[in-house]
Amino acid sequence: MEERLAGLVQDLVRTNSVNATLANGPGEEAVARFVAAQLQAAGLSPEVQVAGDRQYNVVASIRGRGEAPPLVLNAHLDTVGVEESPALLNPRREGDRVYGRGAYDMKGSVAVMVLLGEMLARRPPPGDVWLTFSADEEDRSRGTEHLVRHWLPALDPPPTGVIVLEPTEEQIGVAHKGFAWLEVEVHGRAAHGSRPDEGVDAILPLGRALQALERLGRELEESVAHPLLGHGSLHASLIEGGTAWSVYPAWARLRWERRTLPDEDEALVARELERVVHAAASGPWRVEGRIVFVRLPHQVSPESPVVRALRRARPEAQQVGMAFWTDAALFGEAGVPAVLFGPCGHGAHAADEWVSVSSLTRTLKTLLDVVYTTWPEIWAGAEGGKSQ
Ligand SMILES: [Zn+2]
Repeated sequence: MEERLAGLVQDLVRTNSVNATLANGPGEEAVARFVAAQLQAAGLSPEVQVAGDRQYNVVASIRGRGEAPPLVLNAHLDTVGVEESPALLNPRREGDRVYGRGAYDMKGSVAVMVLLGEMLARRPPPGDVWLTFSADEEDRSRGTEHLVRHWLPALDPPPTGVIVLEPTEEQIGVAHKGFAWLEVEVHGRAAHGSRPDEGVDAILPLGRALQALERLGRELEESVAHPLLGHGSLHASLIEGGTAWSVYPAWARLRWERRTLPDEDEALVARELERVVHAAASGPWRVEGRIVFVRLPHQVSPESPVVRALRRARPEAQQVGMAFWTDAALFGEAGVPAVLFGPCGHGAHAADEWVSVSSLTRTLKTLLDVVYTTWPEIWAGAEGGKSQ
């Protein structure tokens, strides 16, 4: 099992799937075809879906015996870029580790799902299992958005749990933050630097906006911490404006990012934006603020069946919050409890990315245990007091 997994991860790393829109890579077409071919060879009937320009999902179902509700597994097929080191596309094995772009985030998990599919195809599980491989998680999650909009609503019966295999160091990820991208634009009036009577400086009001943001950031630090995720936070991202030394700037823009906790919704972020706009607003210039992009935070109940099934399979695992945003939030928004569980490794998005092969093997064994044993047990109500 371990050798097969190590080989599969290396094949997957070699198959370039650098995100098309984030890093102008080839996207998921080749890797989607590779995954589909593996599943087909195992006797499954995978469907390759087009989720966008050069963006491809793969979906495959394994029919169960009708003894447990359907369960969905999810991993993303794309990776971040390799500009800093193209050699990252040549995987190498060193002892327990496979190095290469995406080995950890998250082609190791793709390999686990492919092998799981092969094993389930040979011996039908108690309930239906859906394997979903998504495009574009590293940019706008168009792959999982496509699944949630077009594929999930058509499932009958609907799934009752999702396991997203993002690397969690074999802990049970039950929460992560959301994020919002915001901006304010200031419109002034251009004039020669010698004509204060005509010019309206669009940059100076951003000083007040920055001060308002700094205050807001301090308030977040001083607020009550989430037990798994700590505090909400913000940081300035981009500041632009001005044309020349001797010209009153007619336009300026400040962009920032806000990382949100599960109880911080878009309405709260909108009110914070209003404060920043208000701080910069009074004067002969015009200020516009907007929320450009929002991804909601994610939290799943520790008592939801999919979390209980994982806890039962891995009683020693901790329930943890993840630092990064994941596609689990999109499944959660669609009303399906989604939990994170994946392998150990290091270096997501970095030059020394690796995944542990023994951890991939343990991850696969855990998922087999969930699918064949603990998931049906939870639904059969046979769990007694043990899972509490
Ligand atoms: Zn990832």
